[in-house]
Amino acid sequence: MSSSYEISRIPRQFVEDLVPPKEICDDEKCPWHGTIRIRRRGILEGKVISAKMTRTVTVLIEYLHFSRKYDRYERRRSKIHAHLPPCIKVQEGDLVRIAEARRMAKTVSHVVLGKVRKGD
Ligand SMILES: [Zn+2]
Repeated sequence: MSSSYEISRIPRQFVEDLVPPKEICDDEKCPWHGTIRIRRRGILEGKVISAKMTRTVTVLIEYLHFSRKYDRYERRRSKIHAHLPPCIKVQEGDLVRIAEARRMAKTVSHVVLGKVRKGD
């Protein structure tokens, strides 16, 4: 096992542009080192708007929804709580990729795969 990619159970196409975590954690809910399985169709990107909770971050997802009545797109946003394993370091403002997984807490059913871009 020379790189984190070889031990990762994440399909490579979702993380090949991300930097794999440098350290190895023992969090079973970690998508890189744990046993949790992510859902391929539930991959999203958004901005971390709160990193105050322990091992959980709030991610703001912005997307366009087409309104037929007004024949144009409207901007919609939703906040998703995602599990943050200890091997991934993020700060508020960072753009992260998250994946849907099993439900881990009342409001948490996503995990952070990694940082896409650093915030300002
Ligand atoms: Zn980990």
